[in-house]
Amino acid sequence: MSFDIAAIREQFPILKRVIDGNPLIYLDNAATTQKPQCVIDALVDYYTTCNSNVHRGAHRLADEATRRFEDARDIVKDFINAPKREEVIWTTGTTEAINIVANGLGSLLSAGDEIIATEMDHHANLVTWQQACKASGAVLRTIPVTDAGELDQAAYDAMLNERTKFVAFPHVSNALGTVNPVKAMTAKAKAVGAWVLVDGAQGAAHGYVDVQDIGCDFYALSGHKIYGPMGIGALWGKESVLSTWPVWRTGGEMISTVTLQDATWNVLPYRFEAGTPNVGDAIAMGEAIRWFSALDQEAVAAHEKALLDRATELAEQFEGLTIIGTAKEKIGVLSFVMDQGHPADIGFLLDRQGIAVRTGDHCAQPLMARFGVPGTARASFAIYNTLEEVDALFVALKKVRTMLA
Ligand code: PMP
Repeated sequence: MSFDIAAIREQFPILKRVIDGNPLIYLDNAATTQKPQCVIDALVDYYTTCNSNVHRGAHRLADEATRRFEDARDIVKDFINAPKREEVIWTTGTTEAINIVANGLGSLLSAGDEIIATEMDHHANLVTWQQACKASGAVLRTIPVTDAGELDQAAYDAMLNERTKFVAFPHVSNALGTVNPVKAMTAKAKAVGAWVLVDGAQGAAHGYVDVQDIGCDFYALSGHKIYGPMGIGALWGKESVLSTWPVWRTGGEMISTVTLQDATWNVLPYRFEAGTPNVGDAIAMGEAIRWFSALDQEAVAAHEKALLDRATELAEQFEGLTIIGTAKEKIGVLSFVMDQGHPADIGFLLDRQGIAVRTGDHCAQPLMARFGVPGTARASFAIYNTLEEVDALFVALKKVRTMLA
C-alpha cells in the first residue's frame, strides 16, 4: 500500500474551500480534524435509510440501525485492541469519558487518598480530578513538565506511594505534541496498585492504539479528532474494573430491572449508556476509523513525521520565534510564540492569508503558566496536510512579522 496525498485530499470536500481568495490551509487538526466524504456519506445514509432507535425495536429499521451501531463498536474495539467489545462505552467524547470515570472514582475515594495528574493535562483531564478530590478529601498531585515539555519522570517516581489510588495522564499533549511514555508510566502506577486512565484524545488521532500493551484501566477518545463526527467518542475500560464501577447517568437502557423503589443495573456496555444513544454519529465514527485504518499506517506515520520535521526546521530558523515544546518524542503539533506579537494577532493575520491555526491556552492554562506565556499559536497537522502547506505557513508568518513590527 502507498500513501497518495492527492488522492487523500480529494476525499475531503472542505479542503477545496477558498478563504479571502486564498486556498484554505487547515492546520488546526488537534482541535478537530476534517471529515472525508465517506464519513459524511455514512451519516447521511444512516438518516436516509435506517434511522431508528436501537436495541428495542421489533422492525427492520431498528435491526439495521442496531447492527450498524454495534458494528461500529467492534471497529473501535479493534482500533484500540480492546480485549472485549463490551468494554467499549459510547460517550459524547473524551470529556464525557473522563467524567464517567471521575464520577465513579469520586465515590471510591477517602480522605488521604492521592490522585496523580499532570501539569500538561487538558482541562478535561485535570478539573475533573480536582472536583473528585474536593468531594472526597483526596489529594491531587501533578507531575511537573520539564523545559522541553516532557513529564518529569523522576518527580513522578517520587510521587507514587501506597496512597496513590488513581493516575491520569495524556497519551499525547494537545498543546505541545509531546508523546508520553504511557506504557512505562502505567507500569509504575500499577506497581503501587493504582488505577490508570490515559487521555487518548490526541493519541488515537495518529494511528492504532494498543490498550492491552499500555496496560491501563481506562482509555478515552473522541471521534472528531480521528476524522469522525463531533459529539461522539468512547471510553474503554477493563471489564474487571468497569463492571464494578459506580454507574454514571441513570435512565433507560442502563437498567436490568426496575421496581417503584429500586433498580438493578444492566451488563456492560449498556450499564453506562443511559438513554437513546447518538446512533448516527457512532456509525460515522466507525466509518472514520475504518477509513483511517485502511491507510498504510507506516506511511501515515512517516508523512506526519515529515510534516513536523519540516515545520520544526523552519521554525528553528525563523527569527523571533520560540517553539514551546521540544520533547524528543513529539507528534503533530508545533506550538510557538513570536517576539513581535500576541498569539491572537498571529492567528488573526494568518487567517487573513487562508491559514487556520489555533491560538490561546489550548485548554491547558497551568501548562501555559509553566512556560510563562499567555498562550501560543499552534499549527497541528493531519494526514491531508502537505509539505507545501508547511512552507506556506512560514511564508505567511514572515508577512505577519512584518505587519506586527
Ligand atoms: N484531552 C485532550 C488532550 C484534548 O486534546 C481534548 C480536546 N482538545 C480533550 C481532552 C477533550 O476532548 P473533547 O472536547 O473531544 O471531549
